[in-house]
Amino acid sequence: MRTSALASAPALASAPALVAARSRAHGPTTALWHAVEVHRPTAEVDGACELTVCGSLARIDVDQPWPTPTRDVCPACAVLTR
Ligand SMILES: [Zn+2]
Repeated sequence: MRTSALASAPALASAPALVAARSRAHGPTTALWHAVEVHRPTAEVDGACELTVCGSLARIDVDQPWPTPTRDVCPACAVLTR
């Protein structure tokens, strides 16, 4: 009997997907859009607070594409995901 392990293995993307996440405004810092690398289906991380590419915490919004066309984008994340 021969079973195929590959057939039942979940399909893994070689590169992590990037989604946009909104940080909170605190003090003089305005809320910005950050990039988050997700290794799970985006439906599972919608609304989750995750570590962004630049190292801060932001809430994932899967309705917002990354790179985002808005102007209030975290400059560090923009550079790191270029
Ligand atoms: Zn950032």
